[in-house]
Amino acid sequence: MAPRGWGCWRWAARPRARLLSPAATPLGFRQLLSTLELVPHICVVGSGPAGFYTAQHLLKHHPQARVDIYEKQMVPFGLVRFGVAPDHPEVKNVINTFTQTAHSSRCAFRGNVTVGRDVSVSELRDAYHAVVLSYGAEDHRTLGIPGEELPGVLSARAFVGWYNGLPENHKLAPNLNCDTALILGQGNVALDVARILLTPVQLLEKTDITAEALRALRQSQVKRVWIVGRRGPLQVAFTIKELREMIQLPRSQPLLDPADFEGLEDLIKEAPRPRKRLMELLVQTALKPPKADEKAEVPRAWGLRFLRSPQEVLPSPDGGQVAGIRLAVMRLEGSGENAQAVPTGVVEDVPCGLVLSSVGYKSLPIDPTVPFDPKLGIIPNRNGRVLGVPGLYCSGWVKRGPSGVIATTMNDGFLTGQVLLQDLEEGVLPVGPKPGYSSIEPLLKNRGVQPVSFEDWEKLDAEEVAQGQAAGKPREKLVDPQQMLQLIGH
Ligand SMILES: Cc1cc2nc3c(=O)[nH]c(=O)nc-3n(C[C@H](O)[C@H](O)[C@H](O)COP(=O)(O)OP(=O)(O)OC[C@H]3O[C@@H](n4cnc5c(N)ncnc54)[C@H](O)[C@@H]3O)c2cc1C
Repeated sequence: MAPRGWGCWRWAARPRARLLSPAATPLGFRQLLSTLELVPHICVVGSGPAGFYTAQHLLKHHPQARVDIYEKQMVPFGLVRFGVAPDHPEVKNVINTFTQTAHSSRCAFRGNVTVGRDVSVSELRDAYHAVVLSYGAEDHRTLGIPGEELPGVLSARAFVGWYNGLPENHKLAPNLNCDTALILGQGNVALDVARILLTPVQLLEKTDITAEALRALRQSQVKRVWIVGRRGPLQVAFTIKELREMIQLPRSQPLLDPADFEGLEDLIKEAPRPRKRLMELLVQTALKPPKADEKAEVPRAWGLRFLRSPQEVLPSPDGGQVAGIRLAVMRLEGSGENAQAVPTGVVEDVPCGLVLSSVGYKSLPIDPTVPFDPKLGIIPNRNGRVLGVPGLYCSGWVKRGPSGVIATTMNDGFLTGQVLLQDLEEGVLPVGPKPGYSSIEPLLKNRGVQPVSFEDWEKLDAEEVAQGQAAGKPREKLVDPQQMLQLIGH
């Protein structure tokens, strides 16, 4: 291996540097030479937190590196825009940091470009010294049960995309004309969805939830939301902040069965602190007797159902709609995080008109040239280096799997950036200049693709903010790609 500090960049230009002694070289030419030597062109695929944090690290720790961020949506920020709930605006403040990164003269945003379709990963690898795949986990895990395709069964992913203005989910029109909704899965996404379904609509009016979702929620008949998990209370995947929000939700009451929490107190004692606090809150809520007058005036309710696994979605008599779900009653084998749920043979039918499956997100392979582990649903990698493909890296959910908050993704993005720069320094990456975007631009043009720049996004952003102003919202998200292209004059 080349000695540290003896990177390919210097090596590439060494013969020329030897011919021209520094004293004899005019300054401008020397500067040009050093630029040729030292400008790594790096491309990042995906503009969510992983993409932006990786780019931030590269730009900060390499004074010459240029980073192009490709994004299939017309707008940047991934799940910060399309995942994080509208009533969690503080979480979206990370957008300010991403915007700063995008404003760097060495960074460019190339939106409206789907890698794997409009441009291949091999083409990007030819154009850039390194390619970082940060394209997240955009698919959802299916339930694999009969009736899953019935109208009224939706993935939580699509439902979240709908209220957050993801163009492909704009026309989702979920059935809110029923009194019970049931969510499969007990993670934070499940609680986000339950909270949005039950929050008094006037509390959402000043958020950036779409006008369409607000309209539908205003007319919603949903009064009860069941949040169902295969395993027990000790295995829930949500965190205390989200649980507390549910407990404090105005005009809603929790439906928790004290029997589910019996005997847990001893087990909790041994649990790590965050889980212990979460469990204490759950037990306390479950055992708290409702005030006599409270029940009458609370119009809505949410509840946790444990040890239930979906077996079949039950159709309405005409077969055209969901009428309920058959759940297999489970018992636990083993304990703690690794406890397994096994069927007891007993089933239970729960009537509901809307079923949302929130059993996890899933990454998809992007391009046949990129290795993919279908079992783990990630790109096989070691610390972000894609196995067997030098110069190819990954970060974020596509690297680790679809769990973890933005802060986890940030650390992960920084780590991949660090590993890439280390490879650069050690001469692992290809030698010699690379054209970067200048060779991709004509390809996209020939293919009729119209990339969106960060400046274009800022025009759209200003339009959204202006449209939101009348209703007192931070923004009214644009959801029609054609209209967006028109607005930026494409
Ligand atoms: C519903 C939901 C709510 C959440 N709420 C919170 C919260 O409140 N707080 C918190 O800390 N974390 C939250 N998270 C977690 C957080 O969103 C993730 O940790 C983080 O977004 C993962 O970052 P990522 O960049 O890997 O993926 P993503 O954010 O998904 O970004 C991937 C990007 O790649 C783009 N892309 C995909 N395919 C292609 C392609 N072929 N070509 C080009 N671009 C492509 C996508 O459009 C997307 O912009 C939430 C997650 C979800 C699902």
